[in-house]
Amino acid sequence: MKNKLCKESKTIRELLLVLNHQPSGFAFIVDAKKKLKGIVTDGDIRRFLLDGYGISQVVSDLNVKMCTYASEKEDSTSVLKKMNNKIRVIPLVNDDFEPVDYVQYDERQHIPVAMPSLEGNELKYVTDAVLSTWISSSGSYINDFEKNFSNFIDMDYGVSTSNGTVALHLALLALGVGEGDEVIIPDLTFAATINAVLHANAIPVIVDVEKDSWCIDPDEIQKAISPRTKAIIPVHLYGQACDMSRIMSLAQEHKLFVVEDCAEAHGAMFENQKVGSFGEISCFSFFGNKIITTGEGGMCLTNSKDLDNKMRQLRDHGMSLSKRYWHDVVGYNYRMTNIQAAIGCAQVERIDTILQKRFEIEEKYKNIFEKFTFIESQVTFENRSKVAWLVSATVDEKNKEKLIEEFQNHQVDVRRFFYPLSEMPIYEKYLFSNENSKYLSKKGMNFPTHKMVDFELIETLLEKFSQEYFVNN
Ligand SMILES: *Cc1c(COP(=O)(O)O)cnc(C)c1O
Repeated sequence: MKNKLCKESKTIRELLLVLNHQPSGFAFIVDAKKKLKGIVTDGDIRRFLLDGYGISQVVSDLNVKMCTYASEKEDSTSVLKKMNNKIRVIPLVNDDFEPVDYVQYDERQHIPVAMPSLEGNELKYVTDAVLSTWISSSGSYINDFEKNFSNFIDMDYGVSTSNGTVALHLALLALGVGEGDEVIIPDLTFAATINAVLHANAIPVIVDVEKDSWCIDPDEIQKAISPRTKAIIPVHLYGQACDMSRIMSLAQEHKLFVVEDCAEAHGAMFENQKVGSFGEISCFSFFGNKIITTGEGGMCLTNSKDLDNKMRQLRDHGMSLSKRYWHDVVGYNYRMTNIQAAIGCAQVERIDTILQKRFEIEEKYKNIFEKFTFIESQVTFENRSKVAWLVSATVDEKNKEKLIEEFQNHQVDVRRFFYPLSEMPIYEKYLFSNENSKYLSKKGMNFPTHKMVDFELIETLLEKFSQEYFVNN
C-alpha cells in the first residue's frame, strides 16, 4: 500500500515516479496528516498536462476530488456494492481516515456476452496446420471445412471467405446484382447486411420485421417489390428462421434471387429444412461471437456448380480457374486461411454438441425469465426450430437502459438489440417500412450465452431489479 501513496504537497514529477513504480496506473493522494484526499490515475495526469500545466507543479493543483472509499471494517459485500463500471478501485481507510488497503476490480469476474467453445480439436488442428507450413489460403483444412460445413447444411458446394460480410458481397456479385438493382433487406439486422448491398453498388430497400419472429416480414417484402427488385436477403435473426415458405414463393413469383444471411442461425430450421438451403446462395459468418467460429471467417453455400465457380473465381482475384494468372473478371481477395479452416473443422465436428449446449443455456434463461413479468423470452414457433445464438428477450422499454446498467455494473455484459438500420443517417434514405423494428429495437436485449454464465447471479440481479423498479416504484 505504501508505494501507492503520494502526499498532495509533492510535485507531479514525484507523483509520476510513484505511478511508474507499479503497473496499475493509480495512486492515492493523502494530506500532510496522511488522511485520504482522493485517487489519481495516469489519465488524470495526462489531461492535466494537456491542459497546459507542468510537471513541476504540486499535486494539490490537480484539485483531486474525494473518491469512493470504504472502511477497512466494512464487510466485502458492502465494499463490492460500491464498485461499478467506472469505480474500479476502492481505498479502505482506518478510523483516522488513513488509506490502509484497497480493493480492485478483477477482470476475471467479468462475464462476456459471448465466448467461443474451443475445447475440441481446435488447437490440435491449428498446430497441425502450422507444422505443415500450409498457413495461407491453400491447404486440406480449407477443402475439408467447405465440404463438412456444406454437408451439415445439406448443400452441395461451400466457398469459404475471410468473413461473413464479404460472403454476402461475393454472393451478390456472383448473382450479377449491381448498379440500379434493388435488394430487399430487413430493418432489424447487423449493418453488414446493408453494407454488402451498398458495396455491390445496388440499392437496399429496408423493410419491416414481423413483431413476433423479429425476422423480415413477407407482407412488407411483397409491398416493396418493384420492377427493379433483383434479390431478397432474409436475415435469420438471433437464431430464428424467417418464414421461408412465403419468401420463396414471393421470389419465385417475381423471379427474384434469395440470398440468405445465416450469420446468426447455423443449424436453425424452417419446416425441418435447415436455413441456408432455401436460397440460390446462403452466407454464414464464423466471427468469434457466432454459433461456431474460425476467429474471423465466412462461407457461401450453393447447389449451383456455376455459382460455386463464379464465387471461387471472384474470391481469388478473378483469376481463371483453369488458367493461372489469367484474369477474366475484376476480382477480390476474399479467401480464408488454412489456419482459420483448421479451427472451423474442429468446430463443425462438434456443432451438434455446441448447439445442444446453447439450447440448454437458453432453457435455463427461459426458466428464470418466466418468473418475472417485465421480461419476455424470444418466441418459438411450431414450424421453425430456432437455435440459440445470443439468448434474446424483450423487456419493458422504460426500464431497459436501467436493467442493462445494473447488469453492466455487475460485470455481466448484456447487450441492447441492433439499432434499426433506418434510424442511422447513412441508411435512412433506403427506408421502406420500420414500425415493428423500431418497437423491438427499443425493447430487445441479448444475454451472455456460453458455459461461464452464472445463472444464480442473473436471477439475483433480475430479482433485485424487479423489487427496485416494480414494487417500490
Ligand atoms: C455477424 C453478422 C454478419 C457479418 O459477419 P462478419 O463475419 O462479422 O463479417 C452479417 N450479418 C449478420 C446478421 C451478422 O450478425
